[in-house]
Amino acid sequence: MIQKILIANRGEIALRIIRACRELGIKTLAVYSEADVQSLHVQLADEAICIGGPKSSDSYLRADRIISAAEIADVDAIHPGYGFLSENAKFAEQCESCNIKFIGPKSKSIRIMGDKAVAKETVRKAGVSTVPGSDGPIDNEAEAVKVARKIGYPVIIKAVAGGGGRGMRIAHNDVSFAKEFHVARNEAEKAFGNGAVYIEKYIEKPRHIEFQILADSHGKVLHLGERDCSVQRRHQKLIEESPSPFLTSDLRKKMGKAAIKAAEAAEYQNAGTIEFLVDAKGNFYFIEMNTRIQVEHPVTEEVTGIDLIKQQIHVANGEKLGFDQGDIKFEKHAIECRINAEDPARNFAPSPGTISLYYAPGGHGVRVDSHVYSGYTIPPYYDSMIGKLICYGSTRKVALQRSYRALSEYLIRGIKTTIPLHKAIMSDPVFIDGKATTAYMEDFMSRTPTDLF
Ligand code: ADP
Repeated sequence: MIQKILIANRGEIALRIIRACRELGIKTLAVYSEADVQSLHVQLADEAICIGGPKSSDSYLRADRIISAAEIADVDAIHPGYGFLSENAKFAEQCESCNIKFIGPKSKSIRIMGDKAVAKETVRKAGVSTVPGSDGPIDNEAEAVKVARKIGYPVIIKAVAGGGGRGMRIAHNDVSFAKEFHVARNEAEKAFGNGAVYIEKYIEKPRHIEFQILADSHGKVLHLGERDCSVQRRHQKLIEESPSPFLTSDLRKKMGKAAIKAAEAAEYQNAGTIEFLVDAKGNFYFIEMNTRIQVEHPVTEEVTGIDLIKQQIHVANGEKLGFDQGDIKFEKHAIECRINAEDPARNFAPSPGTISLYYAPGGHGVRVDSHVYSGYTIPPYYDSMIGKLICYGSTRKVALQRSYRALSEYLIRGIKTTIPLHKAIMSDPVFIDGKATTAYMEDFMSRTPTDLF
């Protein structure tokens, strides 16, 4: 049984994992970089070990140092959170070979789903629809143009190793294709150390709808409903909600079944997410699987009442899931707003610095997951998310009103944040009507005066 967990992450997710461990009576070890001494996860863990300099490549990405820390502190398991080493099959393998449980899927599943082209092929063979595109990666330009023409413009060129909304380029004709193909390959090589790209039909104005999966090591695979993550900027999510205002119960059932099939095709265990694009007619296409806990997992937790981090630990312990598909009830509506240290009025420029005053909202149906506090200095080395506001209630209308109310109470002084942007979105008729597609943010920004933020 797991008695002590090393948390190979920082920020709000490290804190979230500490909280779950505390409630389960499990001891925690935080690892941190020199830039994170002040961070709450370091202060709240039972033990903490500094693993290196501020840059991720000197600390949170150093598998060797993390495993050494795990051995020194004699932990039974490592929770990787999201980002950093969470989808690194080699790291999962290293943990496995050091007899430390990796709280996530087996390295084999990470490998299958970590290469987007292999992932698509795997789920397609299992009968799940995928976006029409090239058969695997393409490196020859002449051949790539032929494929793009056959698929029909516009097309999207995507890095097989892509993630975090990076490594994607859209082409509308042969001329732009030739240029974007090279840019995409170079960018992918720089960002992921792997220049391989593949081509897909660019679906215009789709919705991004993903299904939360939980699978144990005894063959049970369940889904915990969907999250609509269509509000994105540069392919990065800003707002997530569940249930999706677009799905009918019929389509939800079909997509849930397809999501389970896709997870089974990778022999998946633990928590994961199957992502789909859905067009206006309700056709849905698998785009990728995230083989880890996601930023937006609290939305599902508040709708279903299931603690996903605790379930991840139970599964890693070899326990059976204690419920079946029919036991999962979707009784609430939840909306998450990502609070980023960015200035929406200045093209979302990063806004690191010291938070002079921090006051988080509370009250009925409000959850804030954040690691910051008054006097905290946001280091410039990591991503800009400093918190998540999750508001929930019996209906979408209540969740919307509550989100607006909570955002109005949320005070963060000393830096710029996305709070005023979220307030404007929560009062925007298009969003309120549930009409947002992935094209929403661009349209919203073009018709909204930035002095509102
Ligand atoms: P990442 O792993 O970087 O998050 P995804 O494959 O999950 O990349 O795609 C992120 C977002 O990019 C999607 O939510 C969607 O908005 C957009 N996108 C990806 N593929 C397509 C496509 N074929 N057509 C239209 N939009 C796409």
